Amino acid sequence: MKKIERSAVFLKENLALFQCPVCKEAFQDVSGQGVVCANNHRFDLGKKGTLHLLLKGGQNEYDKAMLSSRKALADTGFFHPILDAILNHIPKEGTILDVGCGEGSHLHYLTEKGLSGEKIGFDISKDAIQLAAAHFFDDAFWCVADLAQSPFGAEQFDAILNIFSPSHYQEFNRVLKPDGRVYKVVPDADYLIELRELLYGDRSYNNQDVVKRFKEIYPEALHEHVRYEVELTESTFRWLVEMTPLTWGATDADIEKIIKKPLKTISVAVSLLISGPIKVYK
Ligand SMILES: [Zn+2]
Repeated sequence: MKKIERSAVFLKENLALFQCPVCKEAFQDVSGQGVVCANNHRFDLGKKGTLHLLLKGGQNEYDKAMLSSRKALADTGFFHPILDAILNHIPKEGTILDVGCGEGSHLHYLTEKGLSGEKIGFDISKDAIQLAAAHFFDDAFWCVADLAQSPFGAEQFDAILNIFSPSHYQEFNRVLKPDGRVYKVVPDADYLIELRELLYGDRSYNNQDVVKRFKEIYPEALHEHVRYEVELTESTFRWLVEMTPLTWGATDADIEKIIKKPLKTISVAVSLLISGPIKVYK
C-alpha cells in the first residue's frame, strides 16, 4: 500500500482524534484521500501521507538545515536519557500526541523502545513534518498543525509529549482523556551551559516561571531532574551548534569561531514534568 493510502486507513480508523480547525466540528468522513467536516471544510492528505491542518502561517525558526542537524544529533543518542526517563513513566500503549515533534526523532526512539498505540506527531513547520514522514513514516501519523487552531478532538489522548516545545495548557486539557498526562521537558539552569558560556559568557538560564506555571495548572505534578554529560566529536559539536536555538542570538562570525574550537563535553540538564490528574482543573 502506498503511504497516502496507509494514512487514509489511519484517518478512517481514528477520525475522532481530529476535528475541523475551521469550525471545530468533527470530521464526518474520509472521502477520497482527505477528511471533510459537516460544514464541508476539506483537508487532503499529501502524496507522502502527511495531513496539512494548518489554516495559515506555518513556519517557525527551524529551517531544513537546522532540522537535519537536529536529526543527526538525535541519531547519536544525544537525547536518549531524557526519553528513557519518560519511558519510565508513560503507559506503554495508548493514544499519544507529540506537540511540536520537529523531525520526529523523539517519537521514533520511543517507538523503537516499545511505545505502541496510535501516535500523532505534529509541528507547525512543514519542513519538519516532511522530514519526519520521510524517515519515520511507520512510527506515527505526521501532520502540519497548530494547537492554537484546535485541530484535535476532545478527550482523546492518553499522553501529550511536550519536549522542548511551547505549551498550550487549555488545549492540552481539552484533548487529554480525564486520566491522561502531559510529559513536559524543559531545560534546567545548566542545560548546555558550556556552550552558553562560549557564546555569551553568561551562565544564567531560568526555567522557574515555566515550572511554576506547570505546577499551578497541575498541582499534583511530578518533577524529576535528568542530568548527564555527553562526550562530543567535531561532528556532534557542529550539529549541536547548528540545531540549538541558543545560537540564534549570535553572529555568524561568532559561530564560525566556536565551531573551529569544539567543546569536548557538554552538560545536559532538564526537568521532566508530569501532570497529575486533570479532570478537576479544567
Ligand atoms: Zn469545518
